[in-house]
Amino acid sequence: MARRTREEKFMLKAVQVARRGLEQGEVPIGAVLVYQDKVVASGYNRRLKLQLASAHAEMMAIDKACKKFHSWRLPEGCELYVTLEPCPMCMGACLNARVDKVYFGAYEQKGRSLTAELAEANLLNHKTTVIGGVAERECAEILTAFFSSMRAKQKEEKRLKKEEMESNLPKEI
Ligand SMILES: [Zn+2]
Repeated sequence: MARRTREEKFMLKAVQVARRGLEQGEVPIGAVLVYQDKVVASGYNRRLKLQLASAHAEMMAIDKACKKFHSWRLPEGCELYVTLEPCPMCMGACLNARVDKVYFGAYEQKGRSLTAELAEANLLNHKTTVIGGVAERECAEILTAFFSSMRAKQKEEKRLKKEEMESNLPKEI
């Protein structure tokens, strides 16, 4: 296997964190926050468990990092690695917390992210550099596997339901 870059290594850590969510039936998205070459906080999507619309991996990691640094403004040089292109809420949180660089793995396929637009809007007088496609294959794989197993489960449930309904129909004599 080709040697991994520094960025890919951190992204693979985010993939590992995503697996924790997977074990709990969450959409597997993971994030790690890196400062001075060390992971200082991590988070994974916990929307189901917490029933919170804001419980995205990035928000979890940023909140933890802010708590650690006792500051809503993260120190200069913080990097966030997330397995899927961040949504506008998370990209906004990165700007608010003054994350300097955002690396993401898989691209959001439906164009709902606005990542580049938000990064360039310079709304808070802070520039966040965004780099996509880091360890993209590994990041996409875990998501694809999750969604295909979910679809298979739904199909099976539908089949069982149909079977049950048919068995309840009045029988011809
Ligand atoms: Zn998000």
